[in-house]
Amino acid sequence: MKKIALIGCTGSIGRQALDVVRRYPERFTVTALAANANGEAFRALREEFRPRIAFCAENRRGGQEEIDELFSDCDVALIAASGFAGLSYTLAAVRAGKTVALANKESLVCGGELVMAEAKRRGAEIVPVDSEHSAIFQALHFDRGAKFERLVLTASGGPFLRASEEELARVTAADALRHPTWKMGPKITVDSATLLNKGYEILEAKWLFGADLDRIEAVVHPESIVHSLVYFEDGAALAQLGYPDMGVPIQLALTYPDRLPCAAPLDLAALGALHFFPLPREKFPCFGLALQAGKEGGTAPTVLNGAAEIAVRAFLQGGITFPQIAETVEDALSRIPRTDAADFSVLEEADARARAVATRYIYGK
Ligand code: MG
Repeated sequence: MKKIALIGCTGSIGRQALDVVRRYPERFTVTALAANANGEAFRALREEFRPRIAFCAENRRGGQEEIDELFSDCDVALIAASGFAGLSYTLAAVRAGKTVALANKESLVCGGELVMAEAKRRGAEIVPVDSEHSAIFQALHFDRGAKFERLVLTASGGPFLRASEEELARVTAADALRHPTWKMGPKITVDSATLLNKGYEILEAKWLFGADLDRIEAVVHPESIVHSLVYFEDGAALAQLGYPDMGVPIQLALTYPDRLPCAAPLDLAALGALHFFPLPREKFPCFGLALQAGKEGGTAPTVLNGAAEIAVRAFLQGGITFPQIAETVEDALSRIPRTDAADFSVLEEADARARAVATRYIYGK
């Protein structure tokens, strides 16, 4: 019986993870459930899975011990909380030496240096949940240290791949939330539309697979069937393919290194053709900003992310236009000097500062 601590149980990834537990009740048990708000969905899950620990961030009273307690009795910690807030859970799970099924992007984008160092020290294994990184993890045959030449992440291109710059200035939140291939939460769906998400995934891949940024590329693949590729020295490339269904990488992160039945296998003849294009970087400046912040390192990715969280929320509320998301992020990056990411408190400070600068940029206060 594998014991699972699930952080972010009411979100898109969390709900699909619980489907895996329902599908294989003889293999998994849930020992801890955590959600952001104590809503009806959370209470229903608590009733159904009866975890030893049920934790709600909005009612949080204690300090770090309360978070550490979540991982006191589990084999796998699935971190599916969203935003910078996920980092403190990832750090706690890694410190506890658990296998961490990681779905929270900000943990590595912002805290990659701290998380990977701590994982090494405690012997904690990190298994990626995101479809692209799961694909690479599988193509490397579960050996993150395997030798490779280049990593290529595929990108659906989001809903605005073919939009002109004039059209981009007029798109609404509802347009951005209509993702062509993946069903995900609102923040990451908007990040897919700006291609910030693909920039994040390149930074995550750098930490997960120990690759220099110039060895990681992204290519547009609108069908989202090839989930990513690894190129080797001899020119051979290994890819992982499947329908766009997060259920597969989520389940694998929980069953790893085993595989269990999950989704329908690909029908290649029915698919017919697959397409690939270069990433239109000029049209989607968030992608380049993420790479720039990744190259600067230290607190720069945390600043990028803090500003983006504020900008995306404003865009979803109709407060700013789509191109202003990138403008807000660029402004914060240019105003806040980068420092070394010495510890978590430095990142927390950079995050708060970026949020304040972005709020001022958008609302003038
Ligand atoms: Mg992805």
